[in-house]
Amino acid sequence: MSPAPPRPGKDLRRHFPIFRHAREPFHFLDNAATGQICDEAAQALLHFETRARANVKRGVYRLADQATAAFDAARASMARYLGETEKNNVVFTSGATAALNIAAHGLARRLGPGDEILLTTLEHHSNIVPWQLTAERQGAVIKAIPVTDEGRLDLDHLDRLVTNETRIIATTHVSNVTGAVTDLGRLRRAADAVGAVLVVDGAQRAPHGPIDIAATGADLYAFSAHKMFAATGAGVLWGKTELLADFEPLLGGGEMIRQVTFEKTTFAPPPHRFEAGTPPIGAVLAMAAAADWLATLDWRAIAEHELGLTARLLDGLQTLPGLRIVGPSGLQGRFGVVSFDIDDIHAHDICQLTDQLEGVALRGGHHCCQPLMHRFATDATARASLAPYNDTDDIDALIRGLDQTIRMLT
Ligand code: PLP
Repeated sequence: MSPAPPRPGKDLRRHFPIFRHAREPFHFLDNAATGQICDEAAQALLHFETRARANVKRGVYRLADQATAAFDAARASMARYLGETEKNNVVFTSGATAALNIAAHGLARRLGPGDEILLTTLEHHSNIVPWQLTAERQGAVIKAIPVTDEGRLDLDHLDRLVTNETRIIATTHVSNVTGAVTDLGRLRRAADAVGAVLVVDGAQRAPHGPIDIAATGADLYAFSAHKMFAATGAGVLWGKTELLADFEPLLGGGEMIRQVTFEKTTFAPPPHRFEAGTPPIGAVLAMAAAADWLATLDWRAIAEHELGLTARLLDGLQTLPGLRIVGPSGLQGRFGVVSFDIDDIHAHDICQLTDQLEGVALRGGHHCCQPLMHRFATDATARASLAPYNDTDDIDALIRGLDQTIRMLT
């Protein structure tokens, strides 16, 4: 019988080297920017780099064969994390940003002048700028679904926004600013009504447990390893077989070709077509190790734990004078990402002081979501974002730190 999974909070924290090595109180609430690396991922990375290192898909000596087999097994692990049986629908990238760029480049040939790409006001710049680059090249038009005062997508406008010219709908699965979860079912139906492709940025969903990719309705799905407790430098673009097969590669180079002559190059089939050059092998193996470990955790217990912490956080924030929550004030349809501002105190001052006073790591800034900041008439917010290793001590330290900050600066 396998041992019971660690309980969320302090028990789970023991599986993360950074918390074991911390010499002073350390309350990490910047998980939406990057999660801390778990033991499984750290060990996989170290093992590859120090005991098993060889390039993949090239050498024929045993060490190289073993590295290639491990890399293939990592693809199968990531497919399993997505509930997918076809591992070749998993493209390894350097992260969500690279994945979305491959998607935007690959879909370009479906776009002509006047065709429309529908984004949302919640998007991270990684899910805006690649589409703008493609739209400019193809003469296509960008539109955006607005958000409500609660920081959720305002889907009342969907019928007006989706037209016969809509070719692509690209949305985040979970907002990195408001924590709101997108109603992907609605967007899938809207895309189907006009034959559009649905692209989902899963960067903030992937750290919250295995994903049923079929249930998301996505045609393409992107995420980063470093946010799901693995190393920096790797990520995934998952895509439906027929879509990926139709994509031009974004990068050309070694190991993505079938044949090269000076007259013409033919490309390898997906996923290799999109993996030019030496991939981030160690980071990919670490990502797979993290995914396999994450799949063993009790996600029902984690979701309950994080919801409890989010409630404690929202309650605590609402006691502080001058504080405005930018996003849903309730617990329905959200993850534990909470943004806020406090009167005219700058978000960077909030972050510096809560760190100095209570050892709390928060993010302050525009969160690579300037259109969303504009919607809320600000240029920066502070943001606390939760992971399964957070516990009540982190939330209480944050509220204490904010309380002191407000006293000092107002
Ligand atoms: N999309 C969302 C929603 C994000 O939060 C982020 C990172 O913060 C990204 C995309 C980009 O991820 P990366 O920088 O790992 O490519």
